[in-house]
Amino acid sequence: MENFLKNKKVALIDMDGVIYDSMKYHVRAWQQIVDELNIPFQGEDIYVYEGMVGTEIINMIYRKATGKGISKEKAQELYNRKSKLFREIGHNDPMPGTARMLKALERAGIRRVLVTGSAQHTLLDSINADFPGAFNSGDRITALDVTHGKPDPEPYLKGLALAGVKADEAIVIENAPLGVHAGKGAGIFTIAVTTGPVPKDLFEKEGADIIFPSMPDFASVLEAIIQ
Ligand code: MG
Repeated sequence: MENFLKNKKVALIDMDGVIYDSMKYHVRAWQQIVDELNIPFQGEDIYVYEGMVGTEIINMIYRKATGKGISKEKAQELYNRKSKLFREIGHNDPMPGTARMLKALERAGIRRVLVTGSAQHTLLDSINADFPGAFNSGDRITALDVTHGKPDPEPYLKGLALAGVKADEAIVIENAPLGVHAGKGAGIFTIAVTTGPVPKDLFEKEGADIIFPSMPDFASVLEAIIQ
C-alpha cells in the first residue's frame, strides 16, 4: 500500500468505535429509551447516525416513525436519560488493535488529536489511563468545543486549528459514515475503519480515501509502512 502518511503531521482521531469499543452500549441505551416511546426502532440504526448531536438523532427517529417532530425540551430530556443510561451500562472497553495503531502513529512522529462529538466523561476521563501517552493534554476537541456535530466539518476544522496544521498535513481516522463525511468536508485525507456492522458502500458513498476491514488490519498496515 502507498505511504499515505507521507508529509502528514497530525492524526485527528474519533473516539466512539475507534478508541473505545463503545458503540454497542450506545445502541443498547438508545434502544431502551426509544422503546419507551412505543415507536419502531432498530438499535443498530445508531451506527448510521453516529456522530450527530443526540437531540437531533431523537428528533430524526421520532419524525421517521410518526411524521412529526418532537419538542426541543422532550428531545433534551430523552437525550439526558440516554446519556445517564449509557454511563450506567457502559464500560470503557479499549478497541482491540487501537493501542497498536496509536503506538505506530507515535513512532511515525505523528501527533494524535482526539476529535469526538461526545461529551461522555466516563470515556473522556479514562483515555489517559487506558492509552498512556497517546494524547497530549489539551489535544482534544469534544462536544463542548463545537456548535455543529458531525456530519458538519466543524469538529475536524477545529482539530486542524488546534494542531496548527493545514488540511493536507492531517489524516482523519473514523468508524462512522457521518464522521467520514465530516473529515472529507474539512478537506482531509479520511480513513474509515470498520469496527461495527456498517457496510463498506456507506463509507465509499461518503468518499473515504481508504477503508480497512478492522482495527487490527489498520494497525498492521501502519506498522508495515513505518518500518
Ligand atoms: Mg465513532
